[in-house]
Amino acid sequence: MLDRYEITSVKARQVLDSRGNPTVECEIRTRGGGFGRAIVPSGKSTGKHEAVELRDGGLDWNGKGVSKAVKNVNDVIAPKIVGTDCRNQEALDYTLIALDGTPNKAKLGANAVLSVSLANAVAAASTKDTPLYYHLNALFGKPEMTLPVPFFNILNGGEHAGNKLAIQEFMIAPIGAKTFSEALKMGAEVYHELRNILIERYGRGAVNVGDEGGFAPPLKKTRDALDVIMEAIHRQGYESEIRLSIDVAASTFWTGKYYKIDGKRMKSERLLKFYTDLIEEYPIINIEDPFHEEDFDSFAMLTERVGKDVQITGDDLFVTNPRRIEQGIVKKSANAILLKLNQIGTLTEAFQAARLAYDNDWYVMVSHRSGDTEDPFIADLAVAISCGEIKAGAPARGERTAKYNRLLRIEEETEFSYAGKRWVLK
Ligand code: PEP
Ligand code: MG
Repeated sequence: MLDRYEITSVKARQVLDSRGNPTVECEIRTRGGGFGRAIVPSGKSTGKHEAVELRDGGLDWNGKGVSKAVKNVNDVIAPKIVGTDCRNQEALDYTLIALDGTPNKAKLGANAVLSVSLANAVAAASTKDTPLYYHLNALFGKPEMTLPVPFFNILNGGEHAGNKLAIQEFMIAPIGAKTFSEALKMGAEVYHELRNILIERYGRGAVNVGDEGGFAPPLKKTRDALDVIMEAIHRQGYESEIRLSIDVAASTFWTGKYYKIDGKRMKSERLLKFYTDLIEEYPIINIEDPFHEEDFDSFAMLTERVGKDVQITGDDLFVTNPRRIEQGIVKKSANAILLKLNQIGTLTEAFQAARLAYDNDWYVMVSHRSGDTEDPFIADLAVAISCGEIKAGAPARGERTAKYNRLLRIEEETEFSYAGKRWVLK
């Protein structure tokens, strides 16, 4: 008997993301009065191998409309899943995968498919009257839950900003905080201190923000950005608690022959040396996408060199895709994956990616997208899979604080511990 867990309606619509571009929102209702809503985010420095985001093209919305994806949910997907049991996430996701029938969700659109997959999980939790993180944790099957270390992106470059910095994200991670709320306080204080310093040095124009809410000052060189962040940490007295992280997003400045960074042209060996020097000079604990998205071998060289002390995370390299993660495991290309739901398109496949990482003693960092929304789903996800790390942008801007504020609420209503201790303080 399906009774209260039976899906009774599935409805999608077009809404806006944080960049003002259209995206897909889906709502699912169940017979027991359950309700789930999910909004799909959208990347800018997207990996070549990501699942396909279906856009309308044409003139309206500058070609970025998602009415076809919305129609696919309402006319193609809804009739197949109304009447099924929302508790069976895997069965639902395999139905979506089969209905699409392509390896990269190109037919229905990963945006259409993911909106349904996530709204279903939210509707199931709501019907059970249980918090989303509990429901996701039961689906994922990990014995514990923890509150993740927030990796705050406080200074933006690359494709997320209009400045000349090659590196896309400069993050601070308060690993030495005792609790998530203390980590949030440290992050916000350093963010504001950085604002003060940037105004002092470069004037008010330097504190305009990039896509993820971090400042986008007119700096050119990596060390200039790291130095100003270290100064902000120092002024707030958090040298002992806060460490640094960078998302290089190296595909965005790879020309096909060399990397263009800091006014230089670097081949991969020189770039590798650049990173090992930075690691000596600054307290860096994580480097994401240090090389371009096909260069499994250079990733492996860096991991071999520094992977005992530094997390090397594959984002565009793996695109949350178990097949690409398997290649990376064979080649020892990294020791962590970035988990982005819309890179793969269903919750079940994202869980497979995370399990694969865990089974090989790799780490998992849950991530937002540069075009994100008020949907806090990934906060519950990071708690549920107990990965201990999340990046959701600056501690500012509604679509970013939606995730951090949700984590505050989870902290208040549970006894889950803060995951800072998983990092060794050096
Ligand atoms: C990233 O590269 O990790 C990121 C969040 O940016 P985007 O969403 O533009 O891929
Ligand atoms: Mg990235």
